[in-house]
Amino acid sequence: MSANNWFKRLSHPNLEPVSIEGVDQTLSIKYYVLFAQVSGEPAICLSETYLAESLGFLSKYTLELPIYLLDQESFDRLYNRYLEIRTDTELSRLGGTDDPMAEVAEEEEGFSLAEFLRNKADLLSSEESAPIIRFVNALFYQAIKKGASDIHIEPHEHKGEVRFRIDGALVRYVDLDLRIINLVVSRIKVISNLDIAEKRKTQDGRTQVNIARRTLDIRVSILPTYYGERVVMRILMESESIPHLQELGFDHELIGELAGLLEHSHGIVLVTGPTGSGKSTTLHSFLQQVASPQKNVITVEDPVEYKADNINQVQAKADVGLGFAAALRSILRQDPDVIMIGEIRDGETAAIAIQSALTGHLVFSTLHTNTATGAITRLVDMGVERFLVSSSLLGVLAQRLVRKLCDHCKIEDELAETYEEIYGFTRGTKIYKAVGCPACSHTGYKGRRAIGELFIPDDEMVTLFKETIEEHSIRDLAVRKGMRTLQSQLAKLVADGTTSMDEAIRIGIKG
Ligand SMILES: [Zn+2]
Repeated sequence: MSANNWFKRLSHPNLEPVSIEGVDQTLSIKYYVLFAQVSGEPAICLSETYLAESLGFLSKYTLELPIYLLDQESFDRLYNRYLEIRTDTELSRLGGTDDPMAEVAEEEEGFSLAEFLRNKADLLSSEESAPIIRFVNALFYQAIKKGASDIHIEPHEHKGEVRFRIDGALVRYVDLDLRIINLVVSRIKVISNLDIAEKRKTQDGRTQVNIARRTLDIRVSILPTYYGERVVMRILMESESIPHLQELGFDHELIGELAGLLEHSHGIVLVTGPTGSGKSTTLHSFLQQVASPQKNVITVEDPVEYKADNINQVQAKADVGLGFAAALRSILRQDPDVIMIGEIRDGETAAIAIQSALTGHLVFSTLHTNTATGAITRLVDMGVERFLVSSSLLGVLAQRLVRKLCDHCKIEDELAETYEEIYGFTRGTKIYKAVGCPACSHTGYKGRRAIGELFIPDDEMVTLFKETIEEHSIRDLAVRKGMRTLQSQLAKLVADGTTSMDEAIRIGIKG
């Protein structure tokens, strides 16, 4: 006789969970031990599939309750009811006042998370999986409220995790049961028109969600990993949220110089920096600055990160023959005034970009170099003639985003002597370091600001290009003529307590 025959069997698809005093519900769910009213009395409900685990858990308790063995369907339904209730509890916790941001956001936006969750109009649909739908909506809502750019959902061996990318760094948001993670992933697939049944291939999709009277475009990427599917959702910014030139965080002098560059009717302006340094935000800010009903503005981007309705945006797709160079050739037949190229990655794109700048177009693009002056060398390395570079280039901006220390928790730090020398600090400079508190999600930093070095070639430099394109010769001359380097600005931010030495080192700028 097998152990299964010791228990009464029950088939009942509409059981309701009950809580039992002294039993940790989270733990009991983990071991698939569920409790429900059966014939008017609380009972233990188990599944044959997880019997060994469940009995192991039960052996720690002395519960005088009848035990039923449910058929798989009844068990799954009861289990889902538990998860729904758990999700609701999670949600009310998420919307609770332990979140220091909650009150501010409610005042500003005139509604609370709880109200939002009750408001059917904001829900995408109201099927029977409503709690998961609400949970996914709440994720988007929380991400927007916290200023996140991406939402990461990832399964691990025993649990799953949701993290937000805020100010460039990932911040843990909530841990979830793997079963909930799977439901959440399915929900995300549904709203982005992806294949729910396909769990072994990567999938890419897009969706729109309506949150707080705003329509957000979301780019979805799904990658199968060892423990399940990992989802990253990028929240695309709308044109209203593209910062104005003055709001990028550069100092006034630099903003003035940039505004001057953007008044040209033709020529090329380049922005350089590593991934995540804010290059596309800056380019879109440039575009908004020059866009007008009298101008045809066209971009080719990969990916499109901001959505603006006053410009024409083309998504580059190399796999269907629409790489940057091919897209650019098509764009030129569209009679553009201003062209933005997401990135110059190869000689062909570089050649067309420079050619366009020389034939009456204002061109903006990015290059993957560390310094402003390094862009010249890179273009020449890509095969562009020196004289074409010098006659088309209006300016190069090298930029970085620096995390600002949280004012609530930063504390004084000691300045190592070696840094005094490298960064040229005066002795006794007061500097600060990150600690972490609820106001900054325990990261020690809150918000970012941009720093930039702007290289504008003048006649003397154009003459120099004819002799050499060696970067440090160009750089020496530029610095001599007053170019403010990233290094010097970074040191200034450390010295005035805006950021920490650790952050300055992370950004990794050397002289
Ligand atoms: Zn803090």
